[in-house]
Amino acid sequence: MNRLDAAQRRSLREALGARYPWIGHDDIGPRVVEAGECDRCGTEARMVPTCGPVRWPALGRACAAEVGLDAWCDGHGDDARAWLGVLAALPPEADAVARLWWVATGEVRVDAADLPPLLDALPDATATIQR
Ligand SMILES: [Zn+2]
Ligand SMILES: [Zn+2]
Repeated sequence: MNRLDAAQRRSLREALGARYPWIGHDDIGPRVVEAGECDRCGTEARMVPTCGPVRWPALGRACAAEVGLDAWCDGHGDDARAWLGVLAALPPEADAVARLWWVATGEVRVDAADLPPLLDALPDATATIQR
């Protein structure tokens, strides 16, 4: 088993944060949800916690767009509109970015050998991220 060491994870965090500043958003993105797949479809990365009268604790991008404002309580209506806008503007590789982020934080453990396929989902990964 060849896990990423702490220095490798730190440099991955720094590279992702520099390239994808939306990771720092306080309400959406991989930092604010538990690592894992969308609770509605089970195939996309979790991106935003819900608080509405729905049974999914966190949704990915496509499901958030489909469920819409019903995923949040009335009190979060304005915020939710903004969150949906941010989610819709994320780059196509955002799910891969989220999964890499969870590897970089240690929330998800992968063998070093499993990292290249994740990195390959990023355009020009080698330009910014050391393998
Ligand atoms: Zn989903
Ligand atoms: Zn709410």
